Amino acid sequence: MNRNLQSSALELVDRLERDRDLSDEEFFLVLTDDDEEFREYLAARARAVRERVYGKEVYLRGLIEFTNYCKNNCRYCGIRRDNRNAQRYRLTGEEVLASCDTGYALGFRTFVLQGGEDPFQTDDRIVSLITRIKARYPDTAVTLSIGERERESYQRFFDAGADRYLLRHETADQAHYELLHPAEMSFVHRMQCLRELRKIGYQVGCGMMAGSPGQKTEHLVKDLRFLQEFKPEMVGIGPFIPHHDTEYASCPPGTVGLTLKLLSVVRLLLPEALLPATTALGTIDPMGREKGLMAGANVVMPNLSPPQVREKYLLYDNKICTGDEAAECIRCMRARVERTGYQIVVSRGDWHC
Ligand code: SAH
Repeated sequence: MNRNLQSSALELVDRLERDRDLSDEEFFLVLTDDDEEFREYLAARARAVRERVYGKEVYLRGLIEFTNYCKNNCRYCGIRRDNRNAQRYRLTGEEVLASCDTGYALGFRTFVLQGGEDPFQTDDRIVSLITRIKARYPDTAVTLSIGERERESYQRFFDAGADRYLLRHETADQAHYELLHPAEMSFVHRMQCLRELRKIGYQVGCGMMAGSPGQKTEHLVKDLRFLQEFKPEMVGIGPFIPHHDTEYASCPPGTVGLTLKLLSVVRLLLPEALLPATTALGTIDPMGREKGLMAGANVVMPNLSPPQVREKYLLYDNKICTGDEAAECIRCMRARVERTGYQIVVSRGDWHC
């Protein structure tokens, strides 16, 4: 890129930081400019903003993948209903509590209950899980990531003590959503769920995959507009990675470069956002999570699921850390984070408003 164009590209980053806004055309440019100096500048500004809000602290979330049964058939996902090769499992309440015990002793103060949309996990069962975790560990936050439910169910979970809810919107473009999901799934309903979660009072997380099949830069611009308007407390962004038992088996994965760029842009758009350096990012690049932290992410989510089920919660191929004990995971994660100059803290890690 010639010098004038490049200096105007850097100026775009400054303006994004200052105004938390750009025109659609400018977002497009930011997302497609592959110049190295530009990428480094964007990441450096995102890091500066992150340090202004959160200092050098990295928040820890313990991910408990408590069921891989799912009634949905998302085309990209390895635990989709029609994947007969997935070995299904559910953790008992006791097993979930045991994972929390292990996690608490290791310094985790947030537990994320994630799973497929499993009809066995009735509202009563989820309420009971939340109640038991909160009774045993009142100084922790409970995050749910169990998909789309009725408003009344979300309300019951909140009343039982759930603090946060992760429901990636996946894509803010309806036609793209309909490409990625079968006809019985609804873009409008997913978006409605997010609004209901917000109204109830949860700290809400949405997000999207970088490089999902059929994704165009225009779709990502729409994602950024949606984030700008919805102002989620958390945004989960990771690369799409193919799973061998899906129709997208031979699609290329999302790139590290695009994922990092999205993290940085979202950091500048929403300075207080909680942004995880995801496992998927660590899967496509051995240093992916470190790079994510250096591009504006401030959260890590090591796996707290019991080792015997980890290999079964496979949303995509080659997922990392499936063989490790929780203690090993956290030791490894601490070392990784410290090498970036940041530090994992023992805290619920709530949103800074
Ligand atoms: N059933 C819950 C949790 C879904 S799994 C829900 O509906 O919200 C969490 C996230 O993993 C999904 O939202 C999706 O963005 C991501 N995911 C699924 N398949 C993936 C793949 N092949 N590559 C990368 N990320 C994937």
